[in-house]
Amino acid sequence: METKEIRKEKCVIVGSGPAGYTAAIYAARANMNPVLYTGREPGGQLMITTDVENFPGYPDGVMGPQMMEDLQKQAARFDTEINVGIMIEKVDFSSRPHKLWTDGGQEIHADSVIIATGASARWLGIESEKKYMNRGVSACAVCDGFFYRGKEVAIVGAGDSACEEASYLSKLCPKVHMFVRRDEMRASKIMQERVLNNDKIQVYWNTEIEEILGDEQGVTGVQIVNNKSKETQKLDLWGVFVAIGHVPNTKIFADFLDMDDTGYLITKAGSTKTNIEGVFASGDAQDKDYRQAVTAAGTGCMAALDAERYLAAEGLI
Ligand code: NDP
Repeated sequence: METKEIRKEKCVIVGSGPAGYTAAIYAARANMNPVLYTGREPGGQLMITTDVENFPGYPDGVMGPQMMEDLQKQAARFDTEINVGIMIEKVDFSSRPHKLWTDGGQEIHADSVIIATGASARWLGIESEKKYMNRGVSACAVCDGFFYRGKEVAIVGAGDSACEEASYLSKLCPKVHMFVRRDEMRASKIMQERVLNNDKIQVYWNTEIEEILGDEQGVTGVQIVNNKSKETQKLDLWGVFVAIGHVPNTKIFADFLDMDDTGYLITKAGSTKTNIEGVFASGDAQDKDYRQAVTAAGTGCMAALDAERYLAAEGLI
């Protein structure tokens, strides 16, 4: 709900992944009247996931978008106000109440703020990657791999995600070219072995993509370079999957909240408290180690409980 008047709220939740919705369920049941802003991609990363088999309580697994719909319904059932598609694009945490502004210019004053803005895929940052985005360039093999059935593809990265996605793609594609920028992988041994023992996956060590090649239809190949020998090579292929990690969505908080050198918010040990009183951080925005739906939900619950205790101690509820 956007009005010209300043909105005054007890609890504003920024983000709509498992952390945001779980925070909303707990905050609403504690009579904090939470107001949640979903951001431009309601549901977050799980919206681009298919089967989720490791979230407790779903013995047969659940599709990511279905799980997010269920979580949203559960949050709405307890009267969370859910503002779909609205971004918080600016904050001022220098004095209380905390101030936030939506992309529509709505100003909000909040006694407590729960950050659940998650993380987004990291990209290589080359021009041709942008040019062929969604026309052969993707950051989600599980979402887009299907379009490349029977075609050769490439994957960049050497972490667990890259290995998992390479294995996944090898079930659909005759050949997967995997580019690793060093002479070893960061991925766990078991994931590496799966890749190295898979005949359909060819690993190129010390190799980076210089350019993604294409035409008006989309990607047609890549130019790669061996960063040791400086030798370059062109390969014909149809899809490039980038699996080089994630970046937390925390830029708008940079002037106020402590974060590590990669942008992950820092919380006080054993809690979701940030360096600013009344501002709590949950989910992937503050977690670079676990990054699971269930851990995000867990920290969303913690953030709501921390916010409730804070509001009670301050006499604000
Ligand atoms: P990671 O940060 O673990 O790995 C990123 C990889 O991308 C690294 O190998 C890195 O190379 C490489 N990389 C980064 N930037 C570039 C670049 N510009 N060009 C080429 N390569 C680049 O991210 P993941 O997403 O793989 O994993 C994140 C977390 O999630 C990890 O803790 C992982 O264990 C976990 N995870 C677990 C899974 C499972 O257990 N089933 C599945 C997926 C993820 P370098 O090593 O040289 O830095």
